[in-house]
Amino acid sequence: MKKKPVASAKTATQTAAKSTAKAAAPAAATRAAKIDDKLIKLGLRSDMDKVLHLPLRYEDETEIRSISEAGFIFGRSVQVEGVVTACEVAFRPRRQLVVTISDDSGQLVMRFLNFYGSQVKQMAEGNRVRARGEVRHGFFGAEMVHPSYKMVTEGAPLPSALTPVYPAGEGLSQTLLRKTIIDAMARIEWRDTLSEQLRSSLDLMSFEPAVRLLHNPPPDIDESVLADRSHAAWVRMKFDELLAQQLSMKRAQIARREKGAAVLPTIGKLSKAFLKQLPFSLTAAQQRVLEEVRADLKQSFPMQRLLQGDVGSGKTVVAAIAAAQAIDSGFQAVLMAPTEILADQHFRKIAGWMEPLGVNVAWLTGSLKKKEKLEAKARIESGVAQLIIGTHALIQEDVQFSKLGLVIVDEQHRFGVGQRLVLRNKGLDASAAAAQQKIPHQLMMSATPIPRTLAMTYYADLEVSVIDELPPGRTPIVTRVIDQNRRDEVIERVHAAALEGRQVYWVCPLIEESEALQLQTATDTHQTLVAALPDLQVGLVHGRMKPADKQQVMDAFTRGDIHVLVATTVIEVGVDVPNASLMVIEHAERFGLSQLHQLRGRVGRGSTASVCLLLYQGPLGMVAKQRLRIMRESTDGFEIARKDLEIRGPGEFLGARQSGQAMLRFADLETDQWLVDRARDLAQTLLRDDPATVGAHLARWLGAREDYLKV
Ligand code: ADP
Ligand code: MG
Repeated sequence: MKKKPVASAKTATQTAAKSTAKAAAPAAATRAAKIDDKLIKLGLRSDMDKVLHLPLRYEDETEIRSISEAGFIFGRSVQVEGVVTACEVAFRPRRQLVVTISDDSGQLVMRFLNFYGSQVKQMAEGNRVRARGEVRHGFFGAEMVHPSYKMVTEGAPLPSALTPVYPAGEGLSQTLLRKTIIDAMARIEWRDTLSEQLRSSLDLMSFEPAVRLLHNPPPDIDESVLADRSHAAWVRMKFDELLAQQLSMKRAQIARREKGAAVLPTIGKLSKAFLKQLPFSLTAAQQRVLEEVRADLKQSFPMQRLLQGDVGSGKTVVAAIAAAQAIDSGFQAVLMAPTEILADQHFRKIAGWMEPLGVNVAWLTGSLKKKEKLEAKARIESGVAQLIIGTHALIQEDVQFSKLGLVIVDEQHRFGVGQRLVLRNKGLDASAAAAQQKIPHQLMMSATPIPRTLAMTYYADLEVSVIDELPPGRTPIVTRVIDQNRRDEVIERVHAAALEGRQVYWVCPLIEESEALQLQTATDTHQTLVAALPDLQVGLVHGRMKPADKQQVMDAFTRGDIHVLVATTVIEVGVDVPNASLMVIEHAERFGLSQLHQLRGRVGRGSTASVCLLLYQGPLGMVAKQRLRIMRESTDGFEIARKDLEIRGPGEFLGARQSGQAMLRFADLETDQWLVDRARDLAQTLLRDDPATVGAHLARWLGAREDYLKV
């Protein structure tokens, strides 16, 4: 956790005092406005927001240890009190404030790497400090680095209860936050949003005492139940929060249904012809999922469906058939992909299927020339284009659709909530005059499975279809984990594979800190391999290349003219070259599990047995070891995702970007699942029977934040 900057309230008061003579009122007003700005940054606008800004944790400042005793307490914070005996700004080697304090038992150094001038003054020799932190034994003896502290007078009373520590922002001290919250508590309307009867049936504590307890725990409280948030007061807060989330999502769902969608009922000429000319027949899983999608499109309210299927399970065909239904019904369909390479592949593949059947397909990405863009946009706007494929450009450019009926988002987890919302609303803009604000149907595709419980918690009304079967004739990928030292052997193996006519991906290490360095590594690897494999064609593709150049390389690889393709993670998503059956991933320990799985999914697409070699550089940390082992043991995306969840926890797994998870501050989806279920049930009942309670509860808990969830 970041240490709070110690901008003391005292300094602010002093500064204000100086200017009193001239313009006390305006100065105070500016100061208050500045504080308000900072509070707003923390999301605290209304008094209720402030009251619901609950402590992150609690500190026990009820006791003071002697300095010598504190030196023997390891791994947790202690509080000491002493008189400043020395204070200097030192350079060792970084500028820092070094303060020595002592009591009867010994002395201790406090070290601050970030400090204000005002702190140096505070720490004048002879002043008395209460400091709290972990004691370490450094070069200069016992020390605390960035302790929290306050100046006190001798014999100043100790608090009798635990001290709450609030999530704070830049320039907001704990003292100020505490005061803000106490003031707000005096102003709010405390009425409980849940009736006495509901509370007792759910065994919930009342709102007011719960909130007051959390801000101001009684002296005798069991510290551990506060810390692990199992105290009844926390349970009430978590329940309220989850209830607000469920209510908000369900309400958004109802609103969406009321808006309605274009009905796309026709499985006509195009749909039939399309299926007929496919070079394969659908797997049973594809067929089942397709029926689900087809049924949705016939409804007059918008589909909101997530199509999950492991890499290579054949989601694209299902999406294309859905698009055919939209076109058969006289509407446009749009497919948005997260990268140019992927959009391009979709375009070629789907246009290759659709154009011979007379469908007008448009293509729009950021890299098009201005003239081409204008031309594409004109076709989209006039309705000539029936199927539109592209990247983010579809939402960034001022694209107007004529009659958008279906939005398909590939690799949906790559997009933010907001981006998907914009695309869906495109349907609104254009059809506003004609149709009364209808919403296009939405089909999202992802190979990164969201566990069902999470999906239901985050998207109350998301339907999920799963393709749980791979097309026939695939042989499972064999994965080996190999020490970097054996790189030469690996190159030998690549050589042998290429001579057998197999194609190879060589994935360069991820270097998160520096794109330039990543590029450099890719270029170096390319050169090394060119030198080591003189009889082979070795290509290079990376994120910084011009789209046209990238395309040229990908084309050559698809045609089989390139044997070994050195690539950065640009190939992570969706690329489909069935003849590629060997993949080498360098520094596999730097990649996350889902990324490794996505990468590996680029091979194993044809009928040849595929191999994935994960090169690592030791020594490996615990987590990296675990990840590589999981990769070796499983090729099942769902299994891998579940393990990933275990390692990382749900918040990070979903990524704040797509989950609206900023919503949940107190509840933990894993440990509080039982509360989620209850909140969901109650939300259902309240929406049906008790709109007043719904309104009051949402106003209290979400205020202005509700928009987040209307996606
Ligand atoms: P993903 O689900 O990863 O997006 P794709 O849609 O790219 O998978 O499909 C992977 C490959 O499998 C493509 O080459 C596709 O044409 C092929 N494919 C899809 N469905 C079938 C099927 N039922 N039988 C045989 N091959 C199929
Ligand atoms: Mg795909």
